[in-house]
This record gives sequence, C-alpha cells and structure tokens, in this order.
Amino acid sequence: MGRGWFGFEDVLGPEQILHLRHGKLGLEAIVVVDNTACGVAIGGIRMAPDVTLEECFRLARAMTFKNAAAGLRHGGGKAVIRADPAMPAPEKERLVRGFARAIRALEAYVPGPDMGTDETAMAWIRDEIGRAVGLPRELGGIPLDAIGATGLGLAVACEVACRHAGIPLEGARVAIQGFGAVGRHAARRLAERGARIVAVSDSKGTILEESGLDVAALLAHKARGEPVTSFAGGRSADPAAIVGVPCEIWIPAARPDVIHEGNADDLRARIVVSGANIPITAGAEAILEARGVLLVPDFIANAGGVICAAVEYAGGDESEALATIAEKIRANTEAVLTRARGEAIPTRRAAEALARERVEKAMAFRRFG
Ligand code: NAD
Repeated sequence: MGRGWFGFEDVLGPEQILHLRHGKLGLEAIVVVDNTACGVAIGGIRMAPDVTLEECFRLARAMTFKNAAAGLRHGGGKAVIRADPAMPAPEKERLVRGFARAIRALEAYVPGPDMGTDETAMAWIRDEIGRAVGLPRELGGIPLDAIGATGLGLAVACEVACRHAGIPLEGARVAIQGFGAVGRHAARRLAERGARIVAVSDSKGTILEESGLDVAALLAHKARGEPVTSFAGGRSADPAAIVGVPCEIWIPAARPDVIHEGNADDLRARIVVSGANIPITAGAEAILEARGVLLVPDFIANAGGVICAAVEYAGGDESEALATIAEKIRANTEAVLTRARGEAIPTRRAAEALARERVEKAMAFRRFG
C-alpha cells in the first residue's frame, strides 16, 4: 500500500476520512474511521473551535487500540466538529442534527460523547439516524459517569497491579489527582477495597491525610460544589503538592502531560494507574520505568467508559456493564503486566503490541486481509 495522502496513514488505517462542510448550517466537521476489523467503529464526537484532521486521526487510532485492547467487538473512529460547544442550545441542536444527517450513510461509525458533546447531543443523533452510544437512561443509555464506569476499571487495574508489585491493596496508600467523574469513583471503589486514600486534588488544590481521608464525607463535601481544599478532614496544599505525596499507588485523573521530565523524579509511588488520557509524557514514562515504578497505561486502565458504551450498544444494562468492565480490565491488565515482565519491555509497549496483534488477527479474517 502507498504512503497515503496525509502522511499519517499506515497498514491499519484510516479506512475512511469524511470531510463535511455545509455553509448554510455552518457545519465544518471531519470523521475518521480508522479500522473496523474488530467491528463497527465506536468513538466520540469532539466539539471545539480548534480541532484538526491530524488530531481526529490520532484520537481515532487511540480508539482502535483502546477498543481492541479491551477485547471489544468494535473498531476505532472519531469525529471532530469545528465549533464552540458553549453556543446557544437551539443552535447546537441544529448543528448536531445536521452533522448526524450528514453521517447517516457512514454506518461503519457509531458516535459517542467526547469533549463538547454529551448525552443530550447523542439523543439528537439517535433521533436523526438511529445510532449513537452514551444515550440518556430513558433511551436505554447507561450513564457511565454517574455509575463510575471508569473509576471501577481503575480500581480493578490497581488490584492486579498490586498483586504484580507484591503490595497488598488493603492498607495501600493512594493519591489521586483530579476529583471529577473518574477520580471520585476511583477513590470510592478503592476505599471499598480497603485502600487508604491519603491525598486527592482538584483544580483548586490538594487535601492530605496520612491516616486516610474519609472518602464518603469528602464525596458529600464535593457534591455541595466545594473544592477539596475546604474539607475539614485533612491538611490543604496547592494543586502541585499531589505529585510528591508518598504513596503506593498514584492515579492521574485530570489532564494530559501532568507528569513530565521536569517532575517525574518528584513522584514517590510504586505504581501509577492512569485514569486520564496521556497523563505521562514519553520521557517521564522512561524515567519512571527505569526507577522500577509499575505503570498501567491509560488505554488499558481507563477503558471502563468505552466498555460501558459497548454494553449499551449491545442492549445490555448497568449491572452487565459493571460486571463486563471488571472482567475485561482484570484480564487485560493481567495480560499486559505479564507480557511486559516476561519480555522485559515497558508496559505501554506490551499494551500496544497486544492491541495491534488483536487488530491484525481480525484483519487477517477479511477477504483482502
Ligand atoms: P471531570 O471534568 O469530571 O473531572 C476533572 C477533574 O480534574 C476535576 O476535579 C478538576 O477540578 C480536576 N482538575 C483539573 N485540572 C486540574 C489540575 N491541574 N490539578 C488537579 N486537578 C485538576 O473529568 P473526568 O470525566 O473525571 O475525566 C478526567 C480525565 O480522564 C480526562 O483526561 C478524561 O479525558 C479522562 N477519561 C475520562 C473517562 C470517563 O469515563 N469520564 C474515560 C477515560 C478517560
């Protein structure tokens, strides 16, 4: 196969790139269907004023790997709409519905929510073309953030990583950066498993308590709209303080690139389980691996959300979603950590190899391989 037109194509994909422009509607969007060997592509729609084709491709490829690594019967795709997501609701509805009608025939792609789109947008799309995931409960959706789909997966990944590192999860000290949909539920699920949550942070700051924070009380505090720093049951510090907290498990659940070459040496954890996407730069990953820190890569540990979406798409309910998340993330974390140790390679390389092999095996069953 040739190099392709855009410079980022390879043997896996993308299979289709759709560029949509509609002057009257003000619609400018791109859909990348990266690879559908494992099944119909699932991936979110990102709405932002500065999205690009290359970003869309990279996000689509990340979905190919995440879905394959999770063992889902889905390929990877992504859509970007160049627009301000904070536009007035009627205008947004017109735009999203217009986008939906424009992708009606692109049946290889099932849209889901991402930055700038939500379950209401998915409901509009379903109404137009009959397919979308991340739907409201009334339409058969499973509210993945409310049930803590990704947080559960992280807790299960921690169980497996602790076993590999020879650390009992019960009593293990955990620090979590970010106390939103992902971080909150990770804290809850880990506290249920006997771990000691010694620090959490949000965008305002960090709260620390060496003997373990009262997670239920902190959740109630946060639900009142308060920052974690005003919680009475701990000592408050600035947001950056979370990085140097002595602990067994450190969980990034906020933003990309928070651990980089400049602060990787400050991290005092034995295990890092990534909730956020790409929270550690490649250079920092190398520093941490060299120090013997066990890393569970993002697309293995944080696949709970997309597993939940796949269960929803297949017509399953909430309890099936939770059971499937636990089962798949346990098996995949185990497979990645065992392979990394057996082959003495970084865990990210082991995870990517596992995902790539699944996609390539699925491609080999196709008529033209
Ligand atoms: P969210 O908006 O609900 O929560 C984000 C949290 O991070 C908030 O508590 C915010 O205060 C905090 N935060 C922001 N900047 C911070 C900083 N500099 N220091 C410390 N905390 C900071 O988002 P979410 O849904 O919990 O997602 C968190 C991350 O996980 C994102 O990177 C997201 O892409 C990724 N992710 C989410 C899911 C999911 O199911 N929601 C799945 C996979 C990956």
